[in-house]
Amino acid sequence: MKITDIFKQPPRTFSFEFFPPKDEISAVDFGINVGQLMNLNPSFVSVTYGAGGSLQERTFALVDYLQNKIGLPTMAHYTCVGASKEKILADMHAIRAMGIENLMALRGDPPKGSAAFKPHPDGFAYADELIAFIRAAGFNFCIGGGAYPETHPEALSREADIRNLKRKVDAGASFLLTQLFYDNAGYFRFVEQCRAAGIVCRIIPGILPITTFSQWERFSAMGNAPAALGEQLKSFAGNPKKVYQAGMDFAIAQCRELLSKGAPGLHFFTLNKSRATVEIFEEIS
Ligand SMILES: Cc1cc2nc3c(=O)[nH]c(=O)nc-3n(C[C@H](O)[C@H](O)[C@H](O)COP(=O)(O)OP(=O)(O)OC[C@H]3O[C@@H](n4cnc5c(N)ncnc54)[C@H](O)[C@@H]3O)c2cc1C
Repeated sequence: MKITDIFKQPPRTFSFEFFPPKDEISAVDFGINVGQLMNLNPSFVSVTYGAGGSLQERTFALVDYLQNKIGLPTMAHYTCVGASKEKILADMHAIRAMGIENLMALRGDPPKGSAAFKPHPDGFAYADELIAFIRAAGFNFCIGGGAYPETHPEALSREADIRNLKRKVDAGASFLLTQLFYDNAGYFRFVEQCRAAGIVCRIIPGILPITTFSQWERFSAMGNAPAALGEQLKSFAGNPKKVYQAGMDFAIAQCRELLSKGAPGLHFFTLNKSRATVEIFEEIS
C-alpha cells in the first residue's frame, strides 16, 4: 500500500525506521524488537540504506522480509551516493519487483573522510534530480524526501534550503520526513515557512529519544541536543536508570506537544530497539 493511501485513513501516522542488522546475532535481537514493535500496529515501516554493496543488499533483503513475510507497508530508503543512472534504474526495477511501493529518495552523505558530496559522473548531485529521474523513467513509487527543521548543514541559507525542498516536492516527493530535532517550536516555524514557500505535503517529525549521556554528547556535537536536558543528564551521571528516565520524560513531552499542536504523525528512529518506542506509545496513546 502506498503511504499516501495510508494518509487517507487515520488522521495521523506512526512509523518506525530500522537499519539492516549487521550480523546474525543482531538479526536475532532485531527479530525480537520488531516483534514487540509490531504489536503497536505501525502505519508503515522504513529501512535505511548504507554506502557499499553488501549493506545495500541487506536493505533490499530486509525490505523484502518486512513487506512480503511480515506484511507491513514498507518503504525502502535509497541514496544516489556513487550510483550511475544505469545502477539506479536496475535498483528501481529490483525494488519494484519485490512489490515495494514506497521509496525514501535521498542524496546521501559524502563518504567518511570526504568533505563534500561528489556525484557519480553519470549520476546525480541532489535528491530532486534523483526523484525527477525516477519519475521520468516511469516508476510510480510513493516517494518521500528528507527535510531539515534546523536547516541542512550544507545549505547556503535556510531560505535556500527551503527553496531546494520545494524543488524536491515539485520533482515528485509526496511527503517529507524530518531529521531528528528536539526543539518543537523550531519544527512548527519550519513547517510554516515551508507552507509559505508553497510546500503543502505532510512534513512528519522524526523522533529519536535520548536515553544515554553519550547519545546526548553525540547529538550535542551535531548541534541539536537540548542544553537543559544535558545538564539534567549530567547531574544523574553514574545512574543510568535516572538518565534513561529523564531522556524518556523529555521524549514523551516532545511527542505529546507535537501531536497536540497538529503534527501529522511521528516517525521513530528506533535504532532497532523497541523499549523506548514502546514506552512512549504507552504514554501518548
Ligand atoms: C528521514 C531521513 C532519513 C534518512 N535516511 C538515510 C539513509 O537511509 N541513508 C543515508 O545514507 N542517509 C540517510 N539520510 C541522510 C541524508 O542522506 C543526508 O542528510 C544528506 O546529507 C542529504 O540528503 P537529502 O536527500 O536530504 O539531500 P538534498 O535534498 O539533495 O539536499 C542536500 C543539500 O543540497 C542542497 N540542495 C538540494 N537540492 C539542490 C539543488 N537543486 N541545487 C542546489 N542545492 C541543492 C540542500 O539545500 C542541502 O543543503 C536520511 C535523512 C533523513 C532526514
